[in-house]
Amino acid sequence: MKVSKVGAAAAAVVALALTATACGGDSDKGDGGSGDKVVVGIKFDQPGIGLKTADGKFTGFDVDVAKYVAKKLGYDEKNIEFKQAPSAQRETMIQNGDVKFVVASYSINDKRKAKVDFAGPYFLAHQDLLVRADDNSITKAEDLNKKKLCSVTGSTSAQNVKEKLAPEADLKQVGGYSECITGLENKSVDALTTDNSILAGYAAQPDHAGKFKLLGLTLSDENYGIGLKKGDKELQTKINQALKDMVADGSWQKFVTANFGPANYKNEPAPQVTEGS
Ligand code: GLU
Repeated sequence: MKVSKVGAAAAAVVALALTATACGGDSDKGDGGSGDKVVVGIKFDQPGIGLKTADGKFTGFDVDVAKYVAKKLGYDEKNIEFKQAPSAQRETMIQNGDVKFVVASYSINDKRKAKVDFAGPYFLAHQDLLVRADDNSITKAEDLNKKKLCSVTGSTSAQNVKEKLAPEADLKQVGGYSECITGLENKSVDALTTDNSILAGYAAQPDHAGKFKLLGLTLSDENYGIGLKKGDKELQTKINQALKDMVADGSWQKFVTANFGPANYKNEPAPQVTEGS
């Protein structure tokens, strides 16, 4: 493994232990793939966005985007290996070459751009709140102060809560949003905050019917980009072109309808690609 820093090696070990797919990836070259194989980071627990189903299949908008982009880069779909990329590990996985690129509800921001580059954006979401259907005590962000709030470590959602939205909230940060959903159900937390695109997917799951409500607040702009190794201009340019083609040939709308339609999620129009220019 071509890892020079002890810290990076330690982080890689943690990442591998958490994903339990350690032996599938060939990261010897440190570029997220070898030959005609490509390793792509996605979420595994976000219905409608990136989900690994019980029978081992991958579904969601980000999965469709990842497959489209991989194809444009010249990879056969059967040669894509999906690897779980939890919010807090995305930059490290890219920096270590564990993945070639990451398509995982990954907002573009300057803090992240100090470590990785992005192509895109390819989607615009907004931070919102999910509460239990019978809870009328939370209607705006300020109501979260003193409430038990759940979000995910390493996400912009958690960061925004701490820095501006509700600094007094009792914020619990976990590894993935599905853990927050469990907490909301069993009342160990009062609200879950992240992108409305993600929250809509959870609320729409058949076994969650009638349990939760999405408040419909626009607490931030989250422009999703495809994360890639810093300085890889060639890959960035190619992915940007693939994303433009995806919108122009109608695939973007097709993926939106297929993945967000069932959740009745009202998405924003496709954003302009601006990264790298
Ligand atoms: N889009 C936000 C982020 O990149 C929240 C969703 C996520 O954690 O993946 O942090």
